[in-house]
Amino acid sequence: MVGRAIVRALESSGYSRLITTSSGDLDLRRQAETQEFFQEQNPEVVILAAAKVGGIMANNELRADFLYDNLMIEANVIEAAFRSGAEKLIFLGSSCIYPRNAEQPIQEEALLTGVLEPTNEPYAIAKIAGINLCESYYRQHGANFVSLMPTNLYGPFDNFDLHSSHVIPALIRKFHEARSANAGEVEVWGTGRPMREFLYVDDLANAVVFFLENVDADAIYGQGISHVNIGCGEDISIGRLASMVAKIVGFEGEIVFDPTKPDGMPRKLLDITRLGSLGWKHSVDLDDGLRRTYDWYLANRI
Ligand code: GDP
Repeated sequence: MVGRAIVRALESSGYSRLITTSSGDLDLRRQAETQEFFQEQNPEVVILAAAKVGGIMANNELRADFLYDNLMIEANVIEAAFRSGAEKLIFLGSSCIYPRNAEQPIQEEALLTGVLEPTNEPYAIAKIAGINLCESYYRQHGANFVSLMPTNLYGPFDNFDLHSSHVIPALIRKFHEARSANAGEVEVWGTGRPMREFLYVDDLANAVVFFLENVDADAIYGQGISHVNIGCGEDISIGRLASMVAKIVGFEGEIVFDPTKPDGMPRKLLDITRLGSLGWKHSVDLDDGLRRTYDWYLANRI
């Protein structure tokens, strides 16, 4: 989802020599294969969007995969980019790097100030290691490697598998299938009370191009921070989100919450003051982004 959106954004900004690969063609967890790819392709700029990702249940259950795969991908790509002489690297993390009880909205400085949310601790630790790799290559070698921390993302090419997906694609699919089957109710995990901030993936991709062109490592590390938050500055409860998605999909039955499923972080709203002062703002609001994502689902679902 993220990689494809970045390709769309780069193409519409006029970049024509894009080198892409997929997990089927190159296993970034393998050091030798990764180094060979970088030596052959010799990219000027590297955008690391590849990761093992998933929703709350996948994160909680596939703990070893989320830690091992992400650590290997980051370590191999960052080292290979450095060795092959890449002039700039952008590493994408996630807002789940922050402590569970971080003060909201969450400032960049909250990193490593408290205990992590247990359901996504392995993923968060891998992403924190990635941030620290970028900063360490900058401090030791002067590499122009920067880290961006997007909030929860959604959009075209999201994963709609109900067990491993994030909340938005899950709700789109559940409400759509319930409407088609004339079902009276849809189950939503948890209490409905957690608060989440959502960003449409094409906005994130535009932010990546903005940082590629305008913000270098000196400007970030020089402020005493290790990364920059990427969000829209607003959050919504899962209960309200469910009502919004139901309305867009046209489901008129009952929404039932299942408190036996985990809520995860109580709230994850990023402080985007730094992002704003660097000169970037999102452009797709939640209602519009949900409609676009539902349209994509209707046109592309299997
Ligand atoms: P998180 O931000 O890492 O917790 O990622 P998710 O997108 O998986 O979950 C966000 C919130 O939505 C959590 O509180 C979930 O319990 C809640 N949620 C409600 N229904 C669903 C569902 O069907 N799938 C997922 N993944 N989350 C759901």
